[in-house]
Amino acid sequence: MDYQEIIKTCYSGDGSDKLKKAERLAEEFGSLLLAHNSIQEQLEAVKAAVEELDTHMGAMEMGITCSHCAAMPKGGCCSAYMGHENNDALQLLMNILAGVDVKLVRDDEVECCFLGRTGCILLFKPVFCLNYLCTRIREDSDGNELSLLEQKTGSLLTAQSVLEQRIIDLLRKQPV
Ligand code: SF4
Ligand code: SF4
Repeated sequence: MDYQEIIKTCYSGDGSDKLKKAERLAEEFGSLLLAHNSIQEQLEAVKAAVEELDTHMGAMEMGITCSHCAAMPKGGCCSAYMGHENNDALQLLMNILAGVDVKLVRDDEVECCFLGRTGCILLFKPVFCLNYLCTRIREDSDGNELSLLEQKTGSLLTAQSVLEQRIIDLLRKQPV
C-alpha cells in the first residue's frame, strides 16, 4: 500500500467513514498484522500503559468528577465533533486488533459516536482525548497527581504511536 494513500484515507471523513476504513483494514490485514510478534508485543505494551493510566485516574477519582460533570446540562467534553475529528482509522484499527467491539454507539450528533452508557468504548483513545485536561480536573487535583497523570499519559501516547508506526510499516509492504 502506498504511504500517501494510507494517510489520505485513514485520517479523513467522519467517525462512520473512519470506522468503515478500519473494518476494511482489519478484514484484509488483521490476521497478518496479528501474526507479527512486533505487533503483538506492542499491543500488550499499550494495554499495560492503558491499565497504568486507568489505575492512576481511578486513584484521582476522575471518573466521579467526569460523571458529575457529564450529568450537568451541557456537561462533559465527549462531543460529536471530537468523535468525528479526533479519531482516525488506524487508531480504530488498533482497538479492533486489541479485541474491542468497535461500533458507533450513538448518532445524535451531540455527543461522540463512541461514547457508551458507561463512558468511552475505546480501549485506545485518540491523542487529543488523552491529552485533554479541563479546568475542573486541574482544580480538583494536586500537583503530584497531575504530574504523574502527565507522565503516564505520555508513556501511553508513546506506546500507541510506536504501535501505529509498526502497523503503517507493515501495511506499506502489502500489495494494493
Ligand atoms: S474531563 Fe472535564 S470537562 Fe470532560 S467530563 Fe471530565 S470533568 Fe467534565
Ligand atoms: S474519549 Fe472516547 S467518547 Fe470521549 S471524545 Fe474521545 S473517543 Fe469520544
